Amino acid sequence: MHTITVKDKIFSPFITASEIDNAISKIAVSMNEDLAGKNPLFLIVLNGAFMFAADLVKKLNFPCELSFIKLASYSGTKSSEKVRELIGLNEDLSGRTVVVLEDIIDTGITLGDLMETVKSKNAVEVRLAALLFKPKAFLKSYPIDYVGLEIPNDFIVGYGLDYDGYGRNYPDIYKIVE
Ligand code: 5GP
Ligand code: MG
Repeated sequence: MHTITVKDKIFSPFITASEIDNAISKIAVSMNEDLAGKNPLFLIVLNGAFMFAADLVKKLNFPCELSFIKLASYSGTKSSEKVRELIGLNEDLSGRTVVVLEDIIDTGITLGDLMETVKSKNAVEVRLAALLFKPKAFLKSYPIDYVGLEIPNDFIVGYGLDYDGYGRNYPDIYKIVE
C-alpha cells in the first residue's frame, strides 16, 4: 500500500483490507450467536455503508431481510435538533428486530436521530453496528452493539467512505495527511 491522492488531498495507508475483513468476521460471529431466530431487518445506511454491509451479510448464516436508507439534511433548518430526514424507510417495522448498519460513528448525532425514527415506527428492538467508531468524538450515550474497530479522530477514506464523493472504491482505508 502507498499514499493516495483523492481530489486535492493526500491520504496514507491506515487499515488494510485484511484487517477490515477480520473485524467484520468478528462482528459476524457475534451476530450469528445473537440474532439467529430473530428474523432481523438490516437497515443499511447509504452511501458509506454499502461495502461493509455487502461483506458482512455474506458471513451471516440466519434468515434476515435487508433494506437501504439514506439520510439527507433538511434544507433551510438551523443547526439544532433534527437535521436529517430519512429516505426510503418504507418497511413495516412493528414487532421487528432492526439492526442499523453504518460505516462510521463519529459524533453519533446522525444515528441518534435515526434510532428515534426507527423506534417511533414500533420496532421491538433496535441494534447498531458500525464498522468504525471514533470514541473521542462521540457525544452521545447510547450503546453501539457491534463495533469493528475503534479509531482516533482522523479523517479517513476508502472501503465505502468518501472525501467529497471520491475514494469510496478503495479496498483499504486511508487517513488524511495533515
Ligand atoms: P456523526 O453524526 O456520527 O458525527 O457522523 C457520522 C457520519 O459522518 C458517517 O456516517 C460518515 O458519513 C461521516 N464521517 C464521520 N467521520 C468520517 C471520516 O473520517 N471519513 C468520512 N469519509 N466520513 C466520515
Ligand atoms: Mg455514513
